[in-house]
Amino acid sequence: MSELPSSAKIVIVGGGIVGCSVAYHLGKMGLTDVILLEQGKLTSGSTWHAAGLVGQLRTSANITQLLGYSVQLYDQLEQETGLATGWKRNGGLRLACNPERWTEVKRQATTATSFGLEMHLLTPKEAQDLWPLMQIDDVVGAAFLPTDGQVSPSDITMSLAKGARQNGVTIREGVKVTGVEVEGGRLRALVTDQGRIACDKLVICAGQWSRELGRMAGVNIPLVSVQHQYLITEKIDGVTSNLPTLRDPDRLTYWKEEVGGLVMGGYEPNPKPWAVDGLPERFEFQLLDDDLEHFEPLLELAVGRVPAMDTAGIKEFINGPESFTPDGNFILGEAPEVRGIYVGTGFNAFGIASAGGAGMALAEWVAKGEPPYDLWPVDLRRFGKNHLDTNWVRTRTLEAYAKHYTMAWPFEEHRSGRPLRRSPLYDRLKAQGACFGEKLGWERPNWFADLASGEKAEDIYSYERQNWFDAVGREHEACRERVAVFDQTSFAKFVLAGRDAEQALSWICANDVAKPPGSLVYTQMLNERGGIECDLTVGRLSETDYYVVTGTGFATHDFDWISRSIPEGLDARLIDVTSSNAVLAVMGPRSRDVLQTLTEHDLSNAGFPFGRVKRITLAGAPMLALRVTYVGELGWELHVPVEFAASVYDALMAAGQPHGIANAGYRAIESLRLEKGYRAWGGEIGPDHSPLVAGLGWAVKLKSNRPFQGRAALEAQAPKKLPRLLAGFTADPSVVLLGRETIYRDGKRVGWLTSGGYGYTVGRSIGYGYVRDQQNGVDRATVLSGRYEVEVATERVPAEVFLDPLYDPAMSRIKS
Ligand SMILES: Cc1cc2nc3c(=O)[nH]c(=O)nc-3n(C[C@H](O)[C@H](O)[C@H](O)COP(=O)(O)OP(=O)(O)OC[C@H]3O[C@@H](n4cnc5c(N)ncnc54)[C@H](O)[C@@H]3O)c2cc1C
Repeated sequence: MSELPSSAKIVIVGGGIVGCSVAYHLGKMGLTDVILLEQGKLTSGSTWHAAGLVGQLRTSANITQLLGYSVQLYDQLEQETGLATGWKRNGGLRLACNPERWTEVKRQATTATSFGLEMHLLTPKEAQDLWPLMQIDDVVGAAFLPTDGQVSPSDITMSLAKGARQNGVTIREGVKVTGVEVEGGRLRALVTDQGRIACDKLVICAGQWSRELGRMAGVNIPLVSVQHQYLITEKIDGVTSNLPTLRDPDRLTYWKEEVGGLVMGGYEPNPKPWAVDGLPERFEFQLLDDDLEHFEPLLELAVGRVPAMDTAGIKEFINGPESFTPDGNFILGEAPEVRGIYVGTGFNAFGIASAGGAGMALAEWVAKGEPPYDLWPVDLRRFGKNHLDTNWVRTRTLEAYAKHYTMAWPFEEHRSGRPLRRSPLYDRLKAQGACFGEKLGWERPNWFADLASGEKAEDIYSYERQNWFDAVGREHEACRERVAVFDQTSFAKFVLAGRDAEQALSWICANDVAKPPGSLVYTQMLNERGGIECDLTVGRLSETDYYVVTGTGFATHDFDWISRSIPEGLDARLIDVTSSNAVLAVMGPRSRDVLQTLTEHDLSNAGFPFGRVKRITLAGAPMLALRVTYVGELGWELHVPVEFAASVYDALMAAGQPHGIANAGYRAIESLRLEKGYRAWGGEIGPDHSPLVAGLGWAVKLKSNRPFQGRAALEAQAPKKLPRLLAGFTADPSVVLLGRETIYRDGKRVGWLTSGGYGYTVGRSIGYGYVRDQQNGVDRATVLSGRYEVEVATERVPAEVFLDPLYDPAMSRIKS
C-alpha cells in the first residue's frame, strides 16, 4: 500500500455513508486534493447494518428539501457509477390509529403540501390495498408519500465511494486518526497511525466515534451511542418487492420488504445506551448481542399489525449501535471552537435517508464556507454549555429516542435532565405557579398557574387550545393593561470590548451602531447573501464597550458569528457575560410608575427615552437598564448582577402591587409579539431571508454610504421587485395556528406560516409567512390585494392579510 500523503487540502474521517457522500460531492465540485480515511473498511461502522428506509418529511422545509435531494441523487446514482444501490422508490405509508394521531398526520400532510412534497391521505382500506398483510381494525387513516423509498445501505455507500474516486478523491481504508493538531484556534494537521497529514480542513463523519474525535481537537459534539434493533423474516407469502415502507408510530414500529420477507424494527420506550465507558477498539462489522427481552414488547405490537409475523421464521436479528443526539436531529457545520473543522454526524437512525442531502450540504459548507441554505435545525451551533456533559447528553438523548414515534405535541417540553440552569428567581417563580419550559438547559417560565384557584402548573398537551390558554390570556392582559414582569435571565449576553469595537460592529451590523454611548440599537447581522444571521440588540456602554443581547437559543451561534466576523487586525474582543446578569423585563403601561418609585434616576420620556441604555441603581442594586420592548409596550429590561436579582424582584413585586403587577412567561411574550409584528429568528427570519423581504428595511443603514457585511447583496435586491414578502394573517379564533400551515392567495399555494399563535387583545388567531412569487415578484400592493386562505390539517379556512402591526399601543390609547 502506498504511503499516506503528508498534506491534503481536505481530510474526511469516516467511510460510512455520510463520509462517502461528502467525498462524492467534493469530487463533483472538482476538488481533488481530498482524502477520506477509514479506520476499518468502508461501511463497517453503523452503515452496513442499517435497515435502509428512506423517508423525507421533517418539520423544517429546508431539512425536508435536503432529504428530497437524497431521493433525487439515489434515483440516478446507479446509472452514474454503474454500481447497484438497491434503491426502490416504492413509497412510504404512515398509519394513524387514534383521532389525535390522525390530526397529527393531517397536519403533516399540510406541512408536506407547504413544502411541495407529495403526500396523500388514505382510508384504512386504501392503505391496506397498498399493504395487504396488515390488519386495519384500529386504523383511523393513513398517509402515503409516493416518493419515499428504500435502499441497500452498503451498496449505495460503495456507489458513492466509486463516484468519489471517479472524480479524483482518494479513499484509504485501514487508517486510523489518532490525534488532531490545532494552533491558535485553527486546524493544522491530523495524526494517524500511519503518519501525519497537514491539512486545511477536516470533516468529521465518524458516526458514534465523532464525539471522541471532536474531543481530540477541543470540539464538543454532543452525541452518544444507543442500541437499535430490528429483525428480518424468512419469505412471507404476499410480500411483494414493490411493498411500500410502513411506519406505524402508535405501535412504535417500522417495516420494509427484504428479499420476499419483512424487516421490522422500532423504537423502544426504554432505550439502552451503549459503550457508556468508551467505544471498544476495532468495532468493525460487528453487532451487539440480541436483546430479545427488550424487543419483545415491540414484537407483540408488530404481530398485532401483521398477523403473518406470528408464524414467520426469523432469519436474522440485528442489534446495532448508532449515534443519537439530544434533540433527535443530526449535526452539520463548522465547529465554533476551531476554524477548519467540520462535522457531519449524529444521524439518529435516519442517516441513510439523510446522507445524500447532508453530504451535498456539508461539501458545499466545507468548500465555500457556508451551507447552500439555512440549516439551523441541524447546525452544530444549536448546542450550548449544557451539552458539554456526556451524562446529561445521554439522559436527554435517551428521552429523545424514546419519543421518536410518540405524538409530537405542539409546545411539548423535554422532561429529562431538568432542572439544570436556573435563574436566581427560579424558586420564587415556582412558588407562584410558574410552569417552566427548557431551552439550552435553562428553566424558563412559560406561564403561571393560579394556584389559589386550584390550577396546576403543568402542561396538558393536545392539538386543540391547551390547558394554559386562559392563564396566558391573563398574563397578556396584565402586560397590555397594567404591568408584567418577565424573567428573561436566560438571554445570551456578550460584551464587545476594544479600541476598534465601533469599527468592528459597524461592519458586522446592518443598522447604524456608531452612535454615542448610551444608545441602544435593534439590528440584524447579515451574511454575504444579505440573509439574516443574527437579530439582536446592541447597546453602547462606552467608547470602547458594547453590550449585545440575543435569544437564549442563539448563544453559541451568535457568539460564533460575531467573533468570526470581526475583521482581522482590529482590536475588539467578544466576551460571553451571560452568567453575570439576571434579566427582569418590566413591561406595560404602568411599568414606569412602578420602577420610578424604586430609583432616583429620571425614567420620564425625556430623561430615559426609547432606545437608550443606562447604568442605574434601582432597589439598591446597580444594573443596566435598557429601554426596549419585544411585546409592544412601554418597558425596561433590567440587567441585574445575579446576586442582586432576588432582592430587585421582591422590591418590584411589592412596588407593583398597587398597579396590579403580574408575573408573565414566554407564551405570553409570543402572543404579544405576534400582535406587534416582531420577527423571530429561526421563524420569520434567518439566513435565507434578507431584511428587505422580512419587512425590516427600516433597520438597515442602506441610505448611509457606510460599508457593512451583506450590503452589496441588499443593494442588488433593493431596486427589484422582491421574490417574496413577509405578511401577517389572522383567522377565526377557533382555528389553531401552529406554523407550517399552507398559505393560498386567490386559490394558489404561495407559501406557509413561519409562526402561528393567538392574539388575546385582537381576539384572533395570528400567523406570519412569506407570500412568494419568484417569477413576477411581490410588493405590498400584491400582498394586500389577494384573497387568502390557510390550510390547517388539510382544510382551508379564510384568512385576512396584514402588513402593518395589528396592535399599536399608541393608537389603541388614542382610540380609547
Ligand atoms: C439497527 C439500525 C437500523 C437503521 N436503519 C436505518 C434506516 O432504515 N434508514 C436510515 O436512514 N438509517 C438507518 N440507520 C441509521 C444509519 O445506519 C446511520 O445513520 C448511518 O449509517 C450513519 O452513517 P455515518 O457515515 O454517519 O456513520 P458510520 O457508518 O458509523 O461511519 C463512521 C465511520 O467512521 C469510522 N471512524 C471512526 N473513527 C475513526 C477514526 N479515528 N479514524 C478513521 N475512521 C474512523 C468508523 O470506522 C466508521 O466506519 C439504522 C441504524 C441502525 C443501528
